[in-house]
Amino acid sequence: MSKPKVAIVKTGEFKGNKEFLPPTKKFVRYNEDIEQVKAKIEETIDLAVGGIDNIVKPGETVLIKPNLAFQAPPESYSVVDPRVIEGMVAFLKEKSQASEVWVGDNPSLGRHVGRARPAFEAAGMKAAAERGGADRVIYFDEEELVDVEIPNAKVFKHAKVFKPFLDADRVINLPKLKTHLAGTVTLGLKNWQGIIPNVHPSDQQQGAHRIDLGQKMSDVYRIRKADLTFIDAIIGMEGQGPHVGTPVEMNLFFAGTDTVAVDAVASSVMGFETVEIAAVRITAIDGLGEADISKIEVVGTPVDQVRRFFKRPMNDPTGLVPGVHVMAQQTCPGCFANVRGGLDLFNVSGIDTADFNKKAGDVYIVAGGVPDFDPELVRGKYMFVEGDCWKYFPSRDKIEQGMKNAKKVIEHPGCAPVYIFAQLNGDLQSVYQEAGGTV
Ligand code: SF4
Repeated sequence: MSKPKVAIVKTGEFKGNKEFLPPTKKFVRYNEDIEQVKAKIEETIDLAVGGIDNIVKPGETVLIKPNLAFQAPPESYSVVDPRVIEGMVAFLKEKSQASEVWVGDNPSLGRHVGRARPAFEAAGMKAAAERGGADRVIYFDEEELVDVEIPNAKVFKHAKVFKPFLDADRVINLPKLKTHLAGTVTLGLKNWQGIIPNVHPSDQQQGAHRIDLGQKMSDVYRIRKADLTFIDAIIGMEGQGPHVGTPVEMNLFFAGTDTVAVDAVASSVMGFETVEIAAVRITAIDGLGEADISKIEVVGTPVDQVRRFFKRPMNDPTGLVPGVHVMAQQTCPGCFANVRGGLDLFNVSGIDTADFNKKAGDVYIVAGGVPDFDPELVRGKYMFVEGDCWKYFPSRDKIEQGMKNAKKVIEHPGCAPVYIFAQLNGDLQSVYQEAGGTV
């Protein structure tokens, strides 16, 4: 059996990178950058599959599924580079025989828990898609949902899927090269989270972010494989991705038809062993692709020539913000990592944490079962209660007594309450304001 092929192409530097990267952090579009992106997209796809005609047949509709991730600007480095969106759409319009090119996604969450329309606007993705000549920009969360059974899935057996994702003849998976505090990395496999809804607190994307995130990514990937996975690695993100990590200029593109193999190779370039990435190793075990680098044909630039060891993301929320005490005992990574994500955002909010502590006093965050929790700890204090499962532990009484003792209780229901990535930060800022601070 032939090895799956993954292409790595060095794009060269882009004129706009200097302004885009810190300290300027301003996205500026230059025509020559778009031309360079288009040429390098073509080179990468030619290397990976021998030309776009081997993927897109005459008259077919093509959906580009980018990683919109959050309601965030390009300068957040959390979303796919608008130059790559514009370049990919323009390339497909000019060089493929597609009847229509669509760009569609549903972000995970945002300041207001992630609606697609404002997220497309904020990310510059709508404008980029239109400049490239997209026939449709599709806000998935405004589209019809289709009930889908997932044969052979292990835990995520039934899904509601946005209809355009199923309607398109071809789907191009277009993630960005980033670390992720729950998934270790977020690449092609993680990008499929955007095909299912995220209405909070209890819809499907939430259930897909508990401790078994990797297995659920594998199950979700069974719904429909990408015809091509293409990674935007012009500027990647390391450290506390996917939302407050540090940008890393890589100037690379990756492409291949086996998403597992593309993710494995990209992870290797980021300095990870593929076995460190749950989604990669589980999809491989589930027979959905190849994760063994020795069994993948890397074409273009060798991995060793472009490897850069990305800083690892941390998911531990304890001891992070002075005076904000995270009470974690029987707490799974669903709440654990998402509290960390919320506190990471709070830490970069510009609020002086010492002043926060002085004004708001000690703040307690509890999730899951906390058998050693002392309800007196929170008397007269702000108390956050995360998730749903604390109600099913024998320590429920202690949390309920704590809620009576607390000065104020802020609850974030759901399992996993992924939206606390954004909501916890916003609510901590509200606490600060209520306590006399200025945001
Ligand atoms: S509610 Fe409980 S089970 Fe669900 S993500 Fe939070 S800690 Fe995990």
